[in-house]
Amino acid sequence: MTGDAPEPTADTLFAPDMNVPLPTPPTRLRVARCCNGCGNRLARPATDEEVAAVIAGDAPPDVRPECPVCSRDAA
Ligand SMILES: [Zn+2]
Repeated sequence: MTGDAPEPTADTLFAPDMNVPLPTPPTRLRVARCCNGCGNRLARPATDEEVAAVIAGDAPPDVRPECPVCSRDAA
């Protein structure tokens, strides 16, 4: 921790720098997965691995073969 930021507690660990309390009860979010090529929303949510890649600052895996528009254009 830096500066005068409060120490995280078990209730604030998900965003320790913001010291935001967890919602009660905890809320589960579902992230839509969009195509890397055209931005089309795919018919499935993002996987844990895809979300982790983006959080780590990496590009999400290429899903253009799953996209009805991009896979049709590539054929
Ligand atoms: Zn696409």
